[in-house]
Amino acid sequence: MKYLYDSNAFAPSTVAPSYWRDTAPTIDDFPKLTADDQCDVAIIGSGYTGMMTAYHLATRYGMDVKILEAAQPGWGASGRNGGFCCMGAAKLSYSQMIKRYGLGETKSFFDTQKASVSFVRSFLKDHNIDADVTGEGEISLAHKANRMKELQEEQSFLKTTFSHKTTLLQPDDLTKMGLSGNFHGGLHNPIGFGLHPLRYARGLAETLRKAKIKIYGDSAVTQWSRQGNAHILRTSEGTLKAQKVVMATNGYTADDLSKSVSGKLLPALSSVLVTRPLTDDERSRQGWNNTTPVYDSRILLHYFRLLPDGRFLFGGRGGTDASSAGKINAERVLRQDFEKLFPEWASVTHTHFWQGFVCLANNLVPYIGPINADKTAWASLAYHGNGVAMSSWAGQALADEIAGKDKTSKLSTVLSRPYTNFPLPSLRLLYLKAAYAYYHVKDEWL
Ligand SMILES: Cc1cc2nc3c(=O)[nH]c(=O)nc-3n(C[C@H](O)[C@H](O)[C@H](O)COP(=O)(O)OP(=O)(O)OC[C@H]3O[C@@H](n4cnc5c(N)ncnc54)[C@H](O)[C@@H]3O)c2cc1C
Repeated sequence: MKYLYDSNAFAPSTVAPSYWRDTAPTIDDFPKLTADDQCDVAIIGSGYTGMMTAYHLATRYGMDVKILEAAQPGWGASGRNGGFCCMGAAKLSYSQMIKRYGLGETKSFFDTQKASVSFVRSFLKDHNIDADVTGEGEISLAHKANRMKELQEEQSFLKTTFSHKTTLLQPDDLTKMGLSGNFHGGLHNPIGFGLHPLRYARGLAETLRKAKIKIYGDSAVTQWSRQGNAHILRTSEGTLKAQKVVMATNGYTADDLSKSVSGKLLPALSSVLVTRPLTDDERSRQGWNNTTPVYDSRILLHYFRLLPDGRFLFGGRGGTDASSAGKINAERVLRQDFEKLFPEWASVTHTHFWQGFVCLANNLVPYIGPINADKTAWASLAYHGNGVAMSSWAGQALADEIAGKDKTSKLSTVLSRPYTNFPLPSLRLLYLKAAYAYYHVKDEWL
């Protein structure tokens, strides 16, 4: 299959050496597809999107749904993310969104994002999935003094446009809240929390297993063709014939998996490090003991949070080189950034470093909907690095769309307008490099 980056990074045998893998309960592997099988709806990919779509199609609509996963459930971004279950699944600013889609549709998208966070919280509770939920809301911290003005403007924009209340935090407030670093204040959004992503993904996989929804592990789709009205998905040892197909492959989508996505998606690397457990003394020296998920005000932002066992998770962009050399460089850069922001922890070692792919689209918003003319192939993807909540919500929304619950889509047009090609798609990585260079200048010098 064709990928924009070093193909080893997409190989199911390449496992992310994450802290989550070391701490999530192990579950039995899902066996491989080794024969010819069929179903109503075949789903490619077993992350939050694929599993949520499958669960809701089967339990709400009684459909026979089967998932084909190249590795095991949660192998992709769903098992290796930062665990921020928060708003923010688009890179388009709200003011640009209003210009492009109108105020009503933007409000609807905003409400969907809020709903997606509550959706995950309720799903975890209703299905007894213990995902180490921590923190209340999400905080954006000003990395420069002049960013406080921007946070203030954002606060007032959110209030007037969406009647959404946030709290502006002055440096003193941060100290009182146990959030001291090289920051100049912040903005607290009450919506959001932190979770253990792989506990969530595996809990979800077990929920599907209990509901007798078939997941075929180690079953990468290598060819997708049509036979009459049906779709045929070929894996190394079998085929799955289905009336409908859902592509739930997000940042791990091969460019040639389907013509409908070729040249339209841009996978981007994100990196995470996790430190050894911090001692009480180390935490108080840095003045940090709050478990709320936090990110800084950079465009190329860092995201970080104190984990329940006292370790610190610190994440950021991962460069544009997914080879082993690129990974070593990304680890060095992330470590430098960590030490700059948390100088008291400069000698605290990190025990884990890993990377994974998020998915960007040309129009900078996610897409949920059909990807072919006869509406038998569907997708939900491009959560722009913020898909824990949105992909989960999207999965159940996609189930409604596929089952045709409502004659016309109830989704905001922000989410349902088909994505477009990147101009000269073979240059996508160059665009990303140029954007990173430009944003770096804006973040550090303006
Ligand atoms: C390092 C990192 C940190 C992140 N941090 C956050 C965060 O803190 N908060 C947040 O909201 N979001 C975060 N994200 C993004 C978030 O994890 C994703 O948006 C979300 O998990 C997407 O879920 P998904 O199910 O759509 O895709 P994925 O979980 O990526 O699943 C796609 C699956 O498709 C499978 N697949 C691909 N091709 C095939 C094929 N041909 N045949 C069969 N299977 C195939 C893959 O094996 C994979 O398991 C992060 C992502 C990364 C990588």
